[in-house]
Amino acid sequence: MIACRSCGKIPKSRRLRGRKHYTCGACIKAALANPSLNSNLVEIRCDGCGRTQQVRRARIIPCDGYTCSLGSCRLNPDFRTPTPPEGFVCALELNVAGGFSGYRVRLATLEDRQAIARARAIRDAGIVLWAQEQGEGRS
Ligand SMILES: [Zn+2]
Ligand SMILES: [Zn+2]
Repeated sequence: MIACRSCGKIPKSRRLRGRKHYTCGACIKAALANPSLNSNLVEIRCDGCGRTQQVRRARIIPCDGYTCSLGSCRLNPDFRTPTPPEGFVCALELNVAGGFSGYRVRLATLEDRQAIARARAIRDAGIVLWAQEQGEGRS
């Protein structure tokens, strides 16, 4: 005879009795309301808006932080992932926990450093151009 794994209640439906594992509706509700009761579910929080969702532990890729959109937040557009210290990069990962994305601060590889140097060169060139335009505007 199958019974609820949490409270031992025996399901009424014959169909449910054929299952290997059974958790009654009341216990599922209690587990969702209090995730600490269910060690399989982990609460993932968006760093930008604080929204949370329950994700199965097995489906989570561990990251330093999570956001509801890739590297940003849908509800809090001002949110930015942390700026990593020199020599580190903030790697963005898609769908690491259900629909949430994650970010990981890791040591920059040689390719990363080259990419950063390229981005800086482009940015610096942009600033020079901008400064020139400003100068022309004033004169
Ligand atoms: Zn139960
Ligand atoms: Zn968010």
